Amino acid sequence: MDDKLFRQAMGRFATGVTVITTKVGEDVHGMTANAFMSISLDPKLVTISIDNKAAMLDKIKKSGKYAVSFLGKEQQNISMHFAGQKKEENPIDFELMDQDMPVIENALSSVVCDVDRTIEVGDHTLFIGKVKDIHVREGEPLLFFGGKYGSYQENQYVK
Ligand code: FAD
Repeated sequence: MDDKLFRQAMGRFATGVTVITTKVGEDVHGMTANAFMSISLDPKLVTISIDNKAAMLDKIKKSGKYAVSFLGKEQQNISMHFAGQKKEENPIDFELMDQDMPVIENALSSVVCDVDRTIEVGDHTLFIGKVKDIHVREGEPLLFFGGKYGSYQENQYVK
């Protein structure tokens, strides 16, 4: 099966956009990701899928923890920066959760996790994380669809 067709089909699934962060010693590393899923309420588990070629892979293996920040509609520049698409000229502001875990400042929501299980699947690795800390803010999400960024619009029902 054709890779391009597979990518095109998967791109028809609209998602939010996250930045995964982790910290190894004093080294903070961030990466844009949309392969995120909430998987269990009891216990509270989520998963992310990381390309085996990404620098993030070894960093999470070393730290054993990661955070996921859900970006708001005004944070496209942050997504592009952490995807290596376009450098942000201003310094990136992190805030700390769970004592010393950096997350993206003013994200819609952030969760901090300890790695519970690591599963290698094809050319990606799933890190199932046990949620330790959560922050929530009001706002509208940044979305990704068909390889493009967009924003959320609520349905207006007219009776
Ligand atoms: P790098 O490419 O080295 O880092 C990424 C960028 O972040 C670089 O510009 C770097 O300078 C910057 N950066 C890192 N740490 C810091 C810091 N502390 N302070 C300031 N800047 C920093 N890939 C996946 O594996 N899984 C996904 O689910 C996924 N989803 C994506 C969704 C979208 C919408 C997009 C656009 C890309 C997605 N990618 C995904 C691709 C992924 O974001 C890129 O391949 C990314 O460059 C991989 O990062 P890296 O860990 O290899 O590190």
